[in-house]
Amino acid sequence: MHDYGECHVCRGRVREKRVKQEFWVKGKLVVVKDVPAGVCVTCGEKVVRAPVGRRIAALLGDAKRRRGARTMTIPVIKFETQVA
Ligand SMILES: [Zn+2]
Repeated sequence: MHDYGECHVCRGRVREKRVKQEFWVKGKLVVVKDVPAGVCVTCGEKVVRAPVGRRIAALLGDAKRRRGARTMTIPVIKFETQVA
């Protein structure tokens, strides 16, 4: 397991977890699941190591893989209230 050191936001402890990460690719939301990331136990900040980031970029760039992906429906809510 990779040592992520302390959280760069709050200096809390960072543990490796498998997380979901969302990306917008050409106007479509793509979710990559089971991404190994360091997650701060205190503030929830996520850190992804450079080789993991490169692997994600390769996955997202793979059109064949995106076409074969499972699709889920995501509720989209419009923010229509004026905020002072
Ligand atoms: Zn933190």
